[in-house]
Amino acid sequence: MTNEDKKELSPAMEDYLRVIYKFEEKGAMVTTSMISESLGVAPASVTKMMKRLASMDLVEHEPYRGVGLTANGEKAAAEMARHHRLIELFLTEVVGVPWDRVHDEAHRLEHALSEYLEDRLADILGDPKVDPHGQLIPCKEGRVAVRSLRMLWDLEQGTRGVVAEIEDHDPALLRYVAERALFPGTKICVAERDPYGGSVIVALGAERCAVGQDAARQIWIETNETAA
Ligand SMILES: [Zn+2]
Ligand SMILES: [Zn+2]
Repeated sequence: MTNEDKKELSPAMEDYLRVIYKFEEKGAMVTTSMISESLGVAPASVTKMMKRLASMDLVEHEPYRGVGLTANGEKAAAEMARHHRLIELFLTEVVGVPWDRVHDEAHRLEHALSEYLEDRLADILGDPKVDPHGQLIPCKEGRVAVRSLRMLWDLEQGTRGVVAEIEDHDPALLRYVAERALFPGTKICVAERDPYGGSVIVALGAERCAVGQDAARQIWIETNETAA
């Protein structure tokens, strides 16, 4: 994708590409309803935007089947993710910004980052693979390997795994996760499921903590059965 093409992407279009990319990199099949829920927009608007993005060769959309990024779409989304995630890591590691504040700052700075500065950040950080929230930093050529992650909320009792990734846009959620020490890389086991919903009880070694549904839907786990 050339710089000319990139300029034509509106912020709304970028949001769509970002959301689809974030589901795809977790190994999820993406549907229009997932996108509408995630962006908080009406399903009809999603359908309309999908047609638009498809005409620009950024997404493929087969009615009743699902949505996927084309090679062009993936390249654009991976580039955005690389900028965003490198800045987040730089802010936590070098500038000392807490992990619940870096997302908003990175969102503001990511467009301003030149290719030159991108390379400098990667150099200083030692060509990092993961950002402060566990999200994979794509390499310069595009996407890294797709992981197969599951939402903590969807796991059955007794499931073991490792916290892989936390959704990064809600500072309150990140503080909630930090209070429970559910940082990326932490080994967990689903000790108990409340049969009436509400929360899931997670064991971290000898410790146990309750995680509410809204939070458990934004914490992604690499389970022992999905880990390659
Ligand atoms: Zn972020
Ligand atoms: Zn992040």
